[in-house]
Amino acid sequence: MSTPVPEAGPCAAWEGLLNGYLDGELDAAHVMDVERHLAGCPACAGALQRMTLVRRVVSQDDVRWRAPPALRDSVVAALARERSAAVAQPLARPSGIAALVGRLRAMLPALRQWSIIPSLAVVAAALLLVVLPPRGGSSLEEELVAGHVRSLLAEHLTDVASSNQHTVKPWFGGKIDFSPPVVDLAARGFPLAGGRLDYIGGRVVAALVYRRNGHVINVFVWPAGSDAHVDRAFMARAREGYTLLNWTEAGLTYWAISDLNTVELKEFQEDFLEALPK
Ligand SMILES: [Zn+2]
Repeated sequence: MSTPVPEAGPCAAWEGLLNGYLDGELDAAHVMDVERHLAGCPACAGALQRMTLVRRVVSQDDVRWRAPPALRDSVVAALARERSAAVAQPLARPSGIAALVGRLRAMLPALRQWSIIPSLAVVAAALLLVVLPPRGGSSLEEELVAGHVRSLLAEHLTDVASSNQHTVKPWFGGKIDFSPPVVDLAARGFPLAGGRLDYIGGRVVAALVYRRNGHVINVFVWPAGSDAHVDRAFMARAREGYTLLNWTEAGLTYWAISDLNTVELKEFQEDFLEALPK
């Protein structure tokens, strides 16, 4: 904490990536981009250092800071104002975060004197870290990762073990209320290993299993609901060492997950889409 860091904010274009970088959410290519940028950009390097520091401090259990009297007075005054406003106008209260931001803005002069915290942005970041649940994506992705790992651990990779699409596809018939397309990608280096039923997001889904050398690719398939947006198509995510690809095609939602890198999994996805019956 002894070395002062530059207080300029990070480049606007990199701010989101810095957050993702800190959260370990980026794929390898983006991690390299960020690290290359950090090497040449003191503003972003400084911002990352501050973000890291704030997170470390906030995550400690025994953090105790004595707020300066001016800050305490501002908080008490702001709370009193809000309480009287709430009594006077119960329907016109701003949302929690908006109120918090407004209160922070009102406290700005006092906060500026608080030497430990260099800027309002950092204070806001620290408070939001406490107020908001931890970032890191949806529980759906967690379930998909769990489903993938479960399939590898419990000798339950496949319910129907076959490299023949004409064996695997009919096996799903009568077990689920939709028909996942099963394509043969052996010629592309992704041999079919079979299929199974899995349970993701509160429903039974189809899981198609492909292999690539020593790697397993699970493709989870279920009917696209109203939550399927065009902008979610071809979304790629790295999570807990796995790559996830999500796309929607002909009314079905697909999630491919593997420990393959993004490039190879994308190649699989392209081959899969190309092989679909037209
Ligand atoms: Zn920068």
